[in-house]
Amino acid sequence: MKFWSSIEKRKVAIVGTGMVGMSYAYAMLNQGACDELVLIDLNRERAAGEAMDLNHGLPFAVSNMRISAGDYDECQDADIVVICAGVAQKQGETRLDLLQRNAEVLKSVTKQIMDSGFTGIIIVATNPVDIMTRVVQECSGFNSKRVIGTGTILDTARLRYMVGEYFEVDPRNIHGYVIGEHGDSEFVPWSQALLSTKRVVEICKENNRYSIEELEKISEQVRTSAYTIIKAKNATYYGIGMSMVRLTKAVLGNENSVLTVSAKLTGEYGQNGVYVGVPCIIGRSGIGKILEIDLTDEEKGKFIASCKTLSDSYDEIIN
Ligand code: NAD
Repeated sequence: MKFWSSIEKRKVAIVGTGMVGMSYAYAMLNQGACDELVLIDLNRERAAGEAMDLNHGLPFAVSNMRISAGDYDECQDADIVVICAGVAQKQGETRLDLLQRNAEVLKSVTKQIMDSGFTGIIIVATNPVDIMTRVVQECSGFNSKRVIGTGTILDTARLRYMVGEYFEVDPRNIHGYVIGEHGDSEFVPWSQALLSTKRVVEICKENNRYSIEELEKISEQVRTSAYTIIKAKNATYYGIGMSMVRLTKAVLGNENSVLTVSAKLTGEYGQNGVYVGVPCIIGRSGIGKILEIDLTDEEKGKFIASCKTLSDSYDEIIN
């Protein structure tokens, strides 16, 4: 692991310069979140075009940035490699076929990243993200603290936004999480959701303007947001791009920020081996600590079921 000093350049390599990769790159540029950005894609021409396009915006950017299209050897001295390469579902292809094909893509990508001599932090966004992060971690041989999936970071942002709208409060003052799989079995442990320092379930009990039933509707809207956006515009990318910048800044700035990323559980919540979305402290060495929040018995049941869904899917692709 290399040491960080203020004169060193913050270098990030992106593998997969599709909608997600480029929304992330665009947000990185607009927030001046690194000094050097390398774009890698199977489609080299596309990566080169994207680099040109971003470079032409530099005169209007908040700070300078070296942006180029490159190859895997560029990962060697990168601080972070972000993986958002993926293949789309083909007609007639089952969910399992797609899972297996994406796992093969990520194994090949990880091997090439590792062959460069890379020693930094890997962030994975490719879906199904919890399974793909586990594939990348096992293939890389890295300590699991250094391989982070985007997990439920975006789902948590959607939750905070919607709960903020409901209570007419700045989403930054809503403290709550979506945990579990980034997908159908994710859920909100409402027992731990706060507006400032007050539990939202208590607010619902005390004020008849608000209700737990409405909060449950918000959970459902969060869980189905991706389907709604995909129906309207075929893909989701801005929200995840900004979520990944938030995660990148937490790492590069050694912020020790709490973010709901996909992390490998090694005994936490009574689970072992599975990558799943849970609140974690994120800093320069990746996942510093996995937080075990208090859950009601019902919430514990939902979490165990979500972990089982992920373990079963992972077993399907390795067997
Ligand atoms: P996209 O099709 O626009 O881009 C995928 C890119 O990957 C393409 O440019 C393609 O050329 C590249 N690619 C494919 N195989 C490659 C390989 N072997 N090596 C290098 N590059 C390769 O897709 P997108 O909309 O950008 O989505 C990317 C992934 O992000 C998908 O898996 C999607 O489901 C996922 N996603 C995740 C979240 C999240 O919350 N984690 C949110 C939205 C999308």
